[in-house]
Amino acid sequence: MDHFLYRDGTLFAEDVSVADIAAQVGTPFYCYSSATLLRHFKLFDDALEGMDHLVCFAMKSASNQAILKLLASAGAGMDVVSGGEYARAKAAGVPGDKIVFSGIGKTQDEMRMALEGGIRQFNVESEPEMHALSEVATSLGVIAPITVRINPDVDAKTHEKISTGKKGDKFGIPISRAREVYALAAKLSGLQVIGIDVHIGSQLTELEPFELAYTKVAELTEQLRADGHTIMRLDLGGGLGIPYTRSNDAPPLPTEYGALIKRTVGHLGCEIEIEPGRLISGNAGIMVTKVIYLKSGEDRDFLILDGAMNDLIRPAMYGAYHDIIPVIEPKPGVDQSAYDIVGPVCESGDTFAKQRMMPPVLAGDLIAFRSAGAYGAVMSSEYNSRPLIPEVLVQDDQFAVIRARPTFDDMIKRDTIPVWL
Ligand SMILES: *Cc1c(COP(=O)(O)O)cnc(C)c1O
Repeated sequence: MDHFLYRDGTLFAEDVSVADIAAQVGTPFYCYSSATLLRHFKLFDDALEGMDHLVCFAMKSASNQAILKLLASAGAGMDVVSGGEYARAKAAGVPGDKIVFSGIGKTQDEMRMALEGGIRQFNVESEPEMHALSEVATSLGVIAPITVRINPDVDAKTHEKISTGKKGDKFGIPISRAREVYALAAKLSGLQVIGIDVHIGSQLTELEPFELAYTKVAELTEQLRADGHTIMRLDLGGGLGIPYTRSNDAPPLPTEYGALIKRTVGHLGCEIEIEPGRLISGNAGIMVTKVIYLKSGEDRDFLILDGAMNDLIRPAMYGAYHDIIPVIEPKPGVDQSAYDIVGPVCESGDTFAKQRMMPPVLAGDLIAFRSAGAYGAVMSSEYNSRPLIPEVLVQDDQFAVIRARPTFDDMIKRDTIPVWL
């Protein structure tokens, strides 16, 4: 459930009319609902009640400072995957001991930054990374708390670009080699092993892959403890999927996911961390665009929008489906027609949907993409020299621009001409 509903025939974000925002901010733009963000965070937090736990928001899904601040104020930690994300988390007021550093390619500069600024733990993904981190920690005279990310070799049954826990994926250390790798970690003087990390993929719509992975983590916990390691924290990753359509096959709920965690690893007495991204931010955001033209092609009609693949790349990149709805509520039972819904970018890949049934639309109408809060704004670019689109945050009857649209000048001024030109 989210907070983008029709009210008196027009789309609202909480208590604000989306058309009013469009009139003030211009299109296209992203719009987030605070209530939805908080509600989804709380669902996870409540699902783990009774266990010592921390929900770390995977901020790569939506990293605007205002969103981070809102979630942090509700008690969220952050899962970061770069020095830039670490800096953003700190700038939003997240204390270092609530920041987890993930990712396969952390540089020594990034490690130093996190060790100096404070860090809850590094999720280490390879032996070379272990050596590099131990070296940095030693040079700073500190000890880096680590988990090792295990690749449990389970099929997440999701899109190949977002599967991360199968043999052949670039992530983690094969579970078959875990004991050997933990033995190495224990020997490195700059590291302190505190737990195990696993993250098998994104947009999972079944619980079974989690069940398989967490069961393997539980077995490994006991093995590693028997080997003499301290395993006091389990980072179970993110990845729970969201409904992108209003069909019946809704993904599992955080409550069911929480129950699964208790069932598989609850007996180990570990502190539990999870790193949900999409389920917190995905349905908390929409992208609002305007129809520029209706164009009749040879065998199909096109809706040409002012939003494009550079603003929301998920359809082009993952073949992702988004519900696309008019901001003015269609009359019930009105005739629908099929359109290819496209943006202005000079690529055929700039197609949001093919032969999508839509109620009658006219040039100038506002159109909203639902479920665009995760991996939307963060993946946008200025391709075709289209300035990054603004982000707006709504709370009750208020809204604020939380990232302004750059002017053409702002965009151009970032380039510099070398002296010889
Ligand atoms: C991307 C990612 C997440 C979040 O995944 P979601 O599907 O958005 O929940 C969590 N942990 C790690 C390590 C990731 O790379």
